[in-house]
Amino acid sequence: MTSTRREGHSAGYNGAVERFRDDEYPMLRGAVYLDHAGTTLYCKSLMERFTRDMMSNLFGNPHSASASSQLSTSRVEDTRLRVLQFFNADPDEFDVVFVANATSGIKLVTEALRSLPAGFDYVYHQSSHTSLIGVREEARNSICLDDPQVEGWLKGRDPFSDDSDDRPLLFAYPAQSNMDGQRYPLRWADQVRHAGSSRTRRTYTLLDAAAFVSSSPLDLSRVETAPDFVVLSFYKIFGFPDLGALLVRREAEDAFSSRKYFGGGTVDMVVCVKEQWHAPKSQFLHERLEDGTLAIHSIIALDAAMDAHQQLFGSMADIAAHTAFLSQRLYYGLQSLRHGNGEPVCTIYSPSPERCSGGAGPVVAFNIRNGPGAWISLSEVEKLANLKGFHIRTGGVCNPGGISAALRLEPWEMKRNFSSGFRCGTENDIIAGKPTGVIRASVGAMSTVSDVDSFTEFIREFYVDDKLPPTPLEATPKLQLASLRVHSICVYPIKSCGGFEVPGGVDWEVRPEGLAWDREWCLVHQGSGQVLNQKRYPRMSLIRPFLDFEHGQLRVRYTGYTPADVPRELSVPLSQNPAVFRSSDTTRSRSSRVCGEEIIAKAYASPEVNGFFSTILGVSCALARFPAGGQGKGMRHAKAHLQKHQIAASAPTVSIPGAFPAPPSPPDSDSEKAIERRILLSNESPILAISMASVDALNREIKRNGGREVSAAVFRANVVLSPRLSQKQTPYVEDTWTSLRIGSHDFRMLGACRRCHMVCINQETAEKNEEPFVTLSKTRRFEGKVFFGTHMCYNPNEDAMGTKHAQFPIIRVGDEVQPAWTCGEELSC
Ligand SMILES: *Cc1c(COP(=O)(O)O)cnc(C)c1O
Repeated sequence: MTSTRREGHSAGYNGAVERFRDDEYPMLRGAVYLDHAGTTLYCKSLMERFTRDMMSNLFGNPHSASASSQLSTSRVEDTRLRVLQFFNADPDEFDVVFVANATSGIKLVTEALRSLPAGFDYVYHQSSHTSLIGVREEARNSICLDDPQVEGWLKGRDPFSDDSDDRPLLFAYPAQSNMDGQRYPLRWADQVRHAGSSRTRRTYTLLDAAAFVSSSPLDLSRVETAPDFVVLSFYKIFGFPDLGALLVRREAEDAFSSRKYFGGGTVDMVVCVKEQWHAPKSQFLHERLEDGTLAIHSIIALDAAMDAHQQLFGSMADIAAHTAFLSQRLYYGLQSLRHGNGEPVCTIYSPSPERCSGGAGPVVAFNIRNGPGAWISLSEVEKLANLKGFHIRTGGVCNPGGISAALRLEPWEMKRNFSSGFRCGTENDIIAGKPTGVIRASVGAMSTVSDVDSFTEFIREFYVDDKLPPTPLEATPKLQLASLRVHSICVYPIKSCGGFEVPGGVDWEVRPEGLAWDREWCLVHQGSGQVLNQKRYPRMSLIRPFLDFEHGQLRVRYTGYTPADVPRELSVPLSQNPAVFRSSDTTRSRSSRVCGEEIIAKAYASPEVNGFFSTILGVSCALARFPAGGQGKGMRHAKAHLQKHQIAASAPTVSIPGAFPAPPSPPDSDSEKAIERRILLSNESPILAISMASVDALNREIKRNGGREVSAAVFRANVVLSPRLSQKQTPYVEDTWTSLRIGSHDFRMLGACRRCHMVCINQETAEKNEEPFVTLSKTRRFEGKVFFGTHMCYNPNEDAMGTKHAQFPIIRVGDEVQPAWTCGEELSC
């Protein structure tokens, strides 16, 4: 079988590496180096060869007549040819331009295309390295495609809708992703030339081979199918020198015809006094593109690098086989790690070795979860790895598209993470229950079996939970069978405007400040800075926000009458602080007042946005945002606390259905007030809950008084609770609860919600009525104040610390709800 032969071969190669490694790579003593995708390592014989070469020759600046200069020139030209041979590229068909690194090669192509009379359009693959993505900023139009979209294009669909354009097009993609090792077909470069769009446009292809060539042979022998431009960095193949190359198919040299800049060495004559004229060198492309003095010594070192490398490792095909063997071993080793509860330790993003024959480079990208399922912070892994002598890479690894696809991060989430302070390499790398980067372990020519095995062992030793942790649901004996369920969940993205009902089956995040997206925006009076509310502007209830996560937008509709010049719908990005990102909305900070409290909210400057709201409400106002995580006046705290009537009622008594809790007696709880809980723009507390049993009881009362029933919507609750099937629920029993468990999350009750006549606004029609306030004041008044519903906040459960649940608390419609009373005693309802 081929696999056994390959293994046999690889094991043999491994033995050879083990024999020479101490001599050739003395810097590896005591270290396990697994960042070959960052750079591979140079061997001792390369450095010695290079030193000898440097010491025994006199190298001058090339291109003059002296012997030392001639020596440099000829060495450079020999090495140039050798580079072409290394990639099986015919010197009649390809030219090599020496550059600082792969990125410089990309920039050279970009600069040339940008100078073309019509500029260029740009198509790049989702897994592109950051250095390829930046090209888009110079293009007239650009688009990022994933695999199926590229295949669609190759089958005939033009990626840009107006295909009438005859502007040249550049297609760029990596031969191998630097993030997870996934490889992309070399045939794409050829197929794009035959795609429909190429009939109308000149189409160039740029292959980023920087990651691929480090451990695989790149064969450019078939010129007709080869990419037009190939970029790479030699340090990734040989460890040294720090030099790169741009290989250009001569057929595509015209791309450089409009390049404007010229530097020393690239021109035959320059006239600059009185007249401005220059004659570019014309024989070889590289003569025109290599501005200034070449990296002569690096090119000489490259010659030595190729010698030494060949001597140690043989061919690139041998290296490919050896590294594939090692990375498979690493992949399966990490994949097989299990916690005591049977859950996998590593979530691997790299393609599985058996799924792709030759389809992946020797890279394993992954993240770690603990036994209960919570993600382990990357910075924590990195610290421990450092301590233990492992050299790995963690984070975004310069591949934003690959990361967002692997971690399923939407653009708005990445922008949110950025706005909330996340940067490449920061400590806070788990946001909203998702990792923000990956751990990348990559092997190279001089890696050994013992390198990958000791890394797997390291992960096993520190991250496998052998003990079976109790599942958090069973951990609390206080609670009995759930008597309630979550009937509905609603958030109010714009304060005082309509609600967004969370669809069934959707996980909704619970944050310390409240439910995700609740009351993050508001409307601010342009003159006074007051935050508008429904009491003054009842039509705000007809402004309906919709959270569109697919497009990363908050879409807003007005359901009332709109004048012809007002759009039916408006949208603003969900990502915070749009000013940081290129976006049509620029926000500026200003001071506003909500509930008499001074706050700093960021107002949108867009006249279109503010015109929409001002016209609808008939008052000059601006949309503003009050994002989570603010400081000073960008931060608010909850004011809710237990009311006296509740403290009395929470003493366990047997409730009679329909009865109201006992009248108040003992003092207020001061300790409650002392705890500071953050809120956004809600009036008093993070979360407001109501019970359908209480709404029904109230409606019965209203009807008895001859009034019209009200909808639960008037109370603008976040969480509506209802009795489980066939169970009965005492109305207003929520006043006596001290805590709630929803699903597997605990909430702490913060006191009853005081009501005003805003509950009289019909949320469907914006009409004002008498009810339910009239009946509420008769039946629900305590010490002169009217209460309905209950404030609460998320209360992380200590038993569940370090679990997936605690890291990213969520609730859903239909979740079971278990209330608890003071002293953990239950009432049967
Ligand atoms: C390393 C790498 C680059 C960037 O190389 P530089 O030497 O930093 O210019 C670009 N693309 C890929 C796929 C890489 O692996």
